[in-house]
Amino acid sequence: MKIGAYIQVPFCQTKCTYCNFYTGVVSRDRYAPYADAVCREITEAAVARKVAGEETAEIDTVYFGGGTPSLLEPAALKKILDALRHGFGFAGSDGAMEITLEADPETITHDKAEAWLAAGFNRVSLGVQSFSDSELKAAGRIHRRSDIFSAAKTLRAAGFRNISMDLIAGLAHQTRATWEESVARLAGVRPEHVSIYMLEIDEGSHLGKESLSGGSRYSAAAIPSDDAIADAYDWARTALAEAGYEHYEISNWGLPGFRSRHNLKYWRREPYLGFGAGAHSFAGGRRWANVHDSARYVRDIEKGGSTREQEQVVTQEEALEEELFLGLRQLEGVDLAQIENAYHVDLSERVATLREQGLVEVAGGRLRLAPDRLSVSNGVLVELLG
Ligand code: SF4
Repeated sequence: MKIGAYIQVPFCQTKCTYCNFYTGVVSRDRYAPYADAVCREITEAAVARKVAGEETAEIDTVYFGGGTPSLLEPAALKKILDALRHGFGFAGSDGAMEITLEADPETITHDKAEAWLAAGFNRVSLGVQSFSDSELKAAGRIHRRSDIFSAAKTLRAAGFRNISMDLIAGLAHQTRATWEESVARLAGVRPEHVSIYMLEIDEGSHLGKESLSGGSRYSAAAIPSDDAIADAYDWARTALAEAGYEHYEISNWGLPGFRSRHNLKYWRREPYLGFGAGAHSFAGGRRWANVHDSARYVRDIEKGGSTREQEQVVTQEEALEEELFLGLRQLEGVDLAQIENAYHVDLSERVATLREQGLVEVAGGRLRLAPDRLSVSNGVLVELLG
């Protein structure tokens, strides 16, 4: 069996105003003990699987996300990769694997890039967000437009042949002109993979809270309207298609052959193991998550205790919802007959209603979201599950 491994590094240099992730700004002294705890968790998990006689699982994709994993010393990142390699085994040579490191542009130096490659990383996902300095500044990002160009240059010079970049539609001060400029600049740098997220406004971020309460701190009053954000997303779809990128998931595009193998596992409900504070796992029909608090996570691991705070067996009903909710995020959609057979359900009525509303379409036996509704996909998915 092949599985994915996700490593969560929940540390950042500052807190971006729009960020609703569980990440923190902590002293650098805490990075090394955290990396050691992750190594220990990996080693113990590998041993536990062997003791339990579970099916041998080889890892074929690794994703270091966060947070800002590129803040850890390259030696610490290598130690974690080595723990995975020794504990579980890698499916093939490093070249046959997909091993991704999320990095912020300002953290990249030539020495680091070379050390990452030497450790086994072959893909870097750069948190670009925008090519407009005023948007980056308002969002609380440290990097500026010039850092993005030099980061891409440094990674290419070191030998990275698979780079992903992400942008956010809807940052404060974004206009149609600055958005078109960001997408054009990104396409000019020609990363192999692109993610475009639409700004989420919720209580989980400083900006979201401020906006919901009608305030103007964090430039909350300068957030584009929902319609403008949806238009920006739709415009980017066309621009990226013209630039040769294949749109394969609501938020993701790749040049041919460069879809994210690791993230595809999430949407296809394939198994993955997560390590680190707040990391989620899915294997053997169960989902579980580690404690979010990184200090508590390290303490738990050092004491030899459990780090899990949620564990559930996925019921058939939940599995069906996941098949639809996750599967429909992919533009190729889902095989309707296969799902109906596997779950002994008849979805024809639900699908017919949604088709009448123009929310989904069926072609060649596959159910998928209507292309012009991708910008409001969350609403469509909720309707479908309702
Ligand atoms: S957006 Fe990324 S870099 Fe910014 S605080 Fe959140 S996790 Fe950290």
